[in-house]
Amino acid sequence: MSLINLLDLLPDELESLAESLGAPRYRGRQLAGWMYHKRVTDVLAMSDLPRPFREALTQRTTVAVPDVERCTPSRDGSRKFVLRYDDGARVQSVLMPDGERLTLCVSTQVGCGFGCAFCYTGTMGLDRNLHAGEIIGQVLAAARTLPSGQRLTHIVYMGMGEPLANYGATVKSLRLLTDPRAFGFSPRRITVSTVGLVGGIEKLAQENLRVNLAISLHATDNAIRDRLMPVNRGFAIEELLAACRRFPLPFRQRMTFEYVLLEDVNDSPAAARELARLLKGIRAKINLIPFNDWPGAPFARPPLARVLAFQNALLERGITATVRWSKGEDIGAACGQLSEAVVA
Ligand code: SAH
Ligand code: SF4
Repeated sequence: MSLINLLDLLPDELESLAESLGAPRYRGRQLAGWMYHKRVTDVLAMSDLPRPFREALTQRTTVAVPDVERCTPSRDGSRKFVLRYDDGARVQSVLMPDGERLTLCVSTQVGCGFGCAFCYTGTMGLDRNLHAGEIIGQVLAAARTLPSGQRLTHIVYMGMGEPLANYGATVKSLRLLTDPRAFGFSPRRITVSTVGLVGGIEKLAQENLRVNLAISLHATDNAIRDRLMPVNRGFAIEELLAACRRFPLPFRQRMTFEYVLLEDVNDSPAAARELARLLKGIRAKINLIPFNDWPGAPFARPPLARVLAFQNALLERGITATVRWSKGEDIGAACGQLSEAVVA
């Protein structure tokens, strides 16, 4: 019989589990307190739980935090983790300090099936989805490595995989992160990035999660976006932006549009003007990501002057646009550089 990963259960489900093991429901709340507030994952060490309950838990459940197989520090202070799950599947998570901020970038799938032409993860194909507990297990594994007193301040779903293609587990992991009885993380400090799955965006709009949404747009012209991102052949730019316009943004929150700058592909001043036009009427900010290279990539990063000219064309039109100089480039941990061989 396979063991239930307690990290896969919402607080209410932990309470029901306690009940099913003959304990009162509040034992489930205590269990959550141990795992998420005290960060104790050994059930036998949860000293205020009755011994028979702890023993029943060890028979049927586990707290499966992935192993840190490798941790590579970068010159810029970021760290890349290669994490290994029980079945041998591996993903990467990246920890990125920036002033007062400490952001963890998590993966939602082992590989990715969307095949964006500029993305190294896309070259792997999809191996499997992660469960909710495997997604939040990355947070626990990374948090364990921090010196006492240091805490994660932000979480971005921008690692390997497409969060909305693993919809149920992604949403469940977001509930676990934001539920005060579990991690209790502020939803404003969490960002989910999507390749632009219209159905998923529409479903997410109904969940009342209040997390930030980032859309990987990357082109203003359907012919170019079709070529860069095969997903565009199913959902064209207009359809995607219509779903973004309908998305209920919480007060003062803005939607992020990510735009990877590829030399001579999508980096012209005309493309910047068109981008400003397309986003009219959306409370948007733009994150420009100069292309991060990987072995055999068919693209190049534009020269600095071209990046700044693109940004200026947006700023002149009153649009907030920042350039994201990716972290961890020297260790292959920057946006779109993640790839890990999978050994089953
Ligand atoms: N699948 C999701 C989230 C993971 S990718 C998505 O596509 O949005 C996180 C961001 O990195 C996306 O905006 C993605 O387009 C971008 N990215 C991928 N490869 C890149 C590369 N080589 N250089 C710069 N950004 C890249
Ligand atoms: Fe997948 Fe996102 Fe990479 Fe596209 S950019 S292949 S959706 S991880």
